[in-house]
Amino acid sequence: MPSYSTVIHWFRRDLRLTDNTALHQAAQDAAQVIPVYILSDWQKRHAWTGSIRQQFLCGCLESLDKNLGALGSRLILRCGQADQELEKLIKETKAEAVYLNRDYDPYGRDMEKKVEEVCHRFGIPCLTYKDRVLHEPDEVLTGSGGPYRVYTPYSKNWLSLEKTAPQGKPTTLGKAPAKDLTSHPLPDLGHWKLEPTQASLPAPGERAARQRMKDFIESRTLNAYAQKRNIPAGVTTSRLGQDLRFGLISIRELYTRCSAATSAQSPSDDQKSVATYLKELAWREFYLAILWHYPEVFDEEFAPEFRGMPWPGSDEQFQVWKQGQTGFPIVDAGIRELLATGFMHNRVRMIVSMFLTKDLHCHWRLGESFFMQHLVDGENASNNGGWQWSAGTGADAAPYFRIQNPWIQTKTYDPEGTYIRQWVPELRGVSPERFTAPPKDGRSLAPGYPLPMVDHHEERDRTLAIFGKHRETK
Ligand SMILES: Cc1cc2nc3c(=O)[nH]c(=O)nc-3n(C[C@H](O)[C@H](O)[C@H](O)COP(=O)(O)OP(=O)(O)OC[C@H]3O[C@@H](n4cnc5c(N)ncnc54)[C@H](O)[C@@H]3O)c2cc1C
Repeated sequence: MPSYSTVIHWFRRDLRLTDNTALHQAAQDAAQVIPVYILSDWQKRHAWTGSIRQQFLCGCLESLDKNLGALGSRLILRCGQADQELEKLIKETKAEAVYLNRDYDPYGRDMEKKVEEVCHRFGIPCLTYKDRVLHEPDEVLTGSGGPYRVYTPYSKNWLSLEKTAPQGKPTTLGKAPAKDLTSHPLPDLGHWKLEPTQASLPAPGERAARQRMKDFIESRTLNAYAQKRNIPAGVTTSRLGQDLRFGLISIRELYTRCSAATSAQSPSDDQKSVATYLKELAWREFYLAILWHYPEVFDEEFAPEFRGMPWPGSDEQFQVWKQGQTGFPIVDAGIRELLATGFMHNRVRMIVSMFLTKDLHCHWRLGESFFMQHLVDGENASNNGGWQWSAGTGADAAPYFRIQNPWIQTKTYDPEGTYIRQWVPELRGVSPERFTAPPKDGRSLAPGYPLPMVDHHEERDRTLAIFGKHRETK
């Protein structure tokens, strides 16, 4: 017998039915589950919201509504502040409990507290679950019980912990929400007053994401991951960032299926690839844990010695970087890939971000914001972590004086120029060795393509001087 007649499941970053912890529990506990999503009423007030990710979200909500329809239910969409909207819904539906999966960023946490207060006022439980991660920030701690500040020991501990197995998907959510329960129409970009995007995005929704997960595991991409993951040309990584970001797939299912993809009898390269991939998944939870324990990283440098440091890069330089017109082919290719698809390969994210901060001396927060506006997998914690890592101010052992040379990075990771030629069409006829050093003759690589906007060696020295001087004053 169910414990409740009607409860609410509040969908947040868990836009799926399969292995959704809170939804699964709600379906077991109640005769009727009201599935709810609350659209933010953001109207260009936050610089991190952009057309690409919102377009993807619109598609995911449409798909979620269809999937709920197949269970005889429907998605109730509301718009506004989550606690206020849930309060109205509790009254309208006479819900006896609210179910949700926990979020770990400061905004998500704040809202959870407010929703808990609302439930408390109504005298009903607010039931929250671990779902978005394999291990919550407080489950992976140092021997003395504190948070890790560096990835490697964190990941060792993370990998050693027992992982929860995935569950299936509910077969029913009870009767559909009453017809007179109002729901906002499925949104389009107009809801946020955003312009349509020309970017070609991955297909949204749970079914498409599950197909991507299957393709990744069953194709050679997973087995070749250790060897190829740093090569930006072609599909060498899972491309599941947006699916984890929006919760279209469950991290438990991904982990379990990847782990099962090899056995002790598999070729050692395959085993190594799976192990490498699982370790990458730990980066995501590491940065979520950093944000949880040190929410100040949104406002300042993680490493205290670099707080208040000057970033003398100019706005003109930042604009050139944003347009992919720096004259550094690998950097321009990365920015253009991002603008065209909402994705940029991880190796190139590192090159591009280090170039902005170490060659152009622009503040990492400018790049952080630009990435968040355009990345379909834009994730506050990982993006902040990636940018601070590249800037040399972040939670990592990488010292600020390790500065990647974009020309050498090109030689190592795109020696044939395949990636560059794909994204910078004006360079298609140029031989690849010319992408691996500044032009010796001082002439542009192709008509209309700019000369390198700076000299990497000079800017590297300047970065070392800025960081060194700032450390002396601390
Ligand atoms: C400057 C910068 C900004 C970044 N911004 C984001 C971001 O907004 N959102 C985001 O998900 N990742 C971000 N990353 C990390 C990484 O680039 C992407 O996770 C990865 O490129 C996504 O592609 P994939 O799914 O094919 O990766 P895969 O290599 O297949 O990895 C699988 C999954 O593991 C996780 N992962 C892998 N590497 C990292 C990492 N270094 N940090 C955190 N998680 C990781 C992601 O969830 C990823 O989807 C950033 C990295 C840098 C250097």
